Amino acid sequence: MECKELEIIPLRQWIHLDGFLLIAGPCSAESENQLLETAQALRSSGKVQIFRAGIWKPRTHPAGFEGKGEEALKWLRNVKQLMDFMTAVEVGSPRHVELALENQVDVLWIGARTTVNPFMVSEIAQAVKGSDVAVMVKNPVNPDLDSWVGAIERIHQAGIKKLAAIHRGFFFFHKTPWRNAPMWEIPIELKRICPCLPIIVDPSHICGKTDLIRDISQKALDLEMDGLMIEVHIHPEQALTDGEQQLNPIEFDDLIKHLIIRQKINNLDDDTLERLRLEVDELDQELIEILARRMAMIDEIGHYKNQNHLTILQIKRWQQMLTDRLESGSQLGLDKEFMHRLFQLVHDESIRRQQRIFNSNKSKE
Ligand code: PEP
Ligand code: MN
Repeated sequence: MECKELEIIPLRQWIHLDGFLLIAGPCSAESENQLLETAQALRSSGKVQIFRAGIWKPRTHPAGFEGKGEEALKWLRNVKQLMDFMTAVEVGSPRHVELALENQVDVLWIGARTTVNPFMVSEIAQAVKGSDVAVMVKNPVNPDLDSWVGAIERIHQAGIKKLAAIHRGFFFFHKTPWRNAPMWEIPIELKRICPCLPIIVDPSHICGKTDLIRDISQKALDLEMDGLMIEVHIHPEQALTDGEQQLNPIEFDDLIKHLIIRQKINNLDDDTLERLRLEVDELDQELIEILARRMAMIDEIGHYKNQNHLTILQIKRWQQMLTDRLESGSQLGLDKEFMHRLFQLVHDESIRRQQRIFNSNKSKE
């Protein structure tokens, strides 16, 4: 996957930052008063750099509130002038870009439903070409790192250097405690392949309700993410969109006060940490060797099944095995959900190997 060498201006160079980037504001702009009152309350916390508000809302059903559109851009311009915030809105088309730029919006973000669509992202990239605006790209709805990276590349190719990604969680077909599962491995992989790209975490859309937001925000800090985007509404109970996940300004202040900012580790002169990491390296090596032995055994079984005309997958055996592994894992304090995912992965790989054995034998016949 591409991405490594993007030329990106660090956040610190275009936002006046004292540590961590905080973007806050309502899910949707609903009235000028709602925007001004929310912004005023956020201004007094003194911690927020960028004020967000949805002007055009992508809704699943046509009956939903679709945003106030152009008139709300004027309200947002007032917020910017009166409260001295940078402002951010979601754009989903070149026309949105044009109007946002006309109204001096500082940051445009591409929503999860737009990132999935290369046609739309290309059109938006054309529309931002030549401007000095900042663009933040939310991850696509589905856990698809490649299309997230592709959208970032398209915006970068249009010459945008104030660029960031926003992690807002992913659709997951199993029930989870979140609205959109965080799947941290995906933003972590994005950081690995593109280390200079800032990643902002959006706990509001990950959680879907307010009581999980603290946990996800702290996790974002602990994983060295670069900022948070949090939905804050002056009266969340009256919100026209995403009411359940929006904090009121007092709750937001309380959240920010209680976040623990830990030290980043940039060097290895911490002896204890180095010793513990070495032990982990050795354990990982053992784990890899055991996995290799397990797969060799799986191949042997594959040959046996093939010679004896047996099916690859015996559902009963798989169900029994999974129950058994989850049980032994939980006796040793391992999380059930984690064990389930791990064994699902190991099992999928085992099936893939056996299928390869079956196919290669078929082609010899
Ligand atoms: C939003 O930020 O209000 C929004 C619609 O987000 P997403 O694109 O992540 O669903
Ligand atoms: Mn929202």
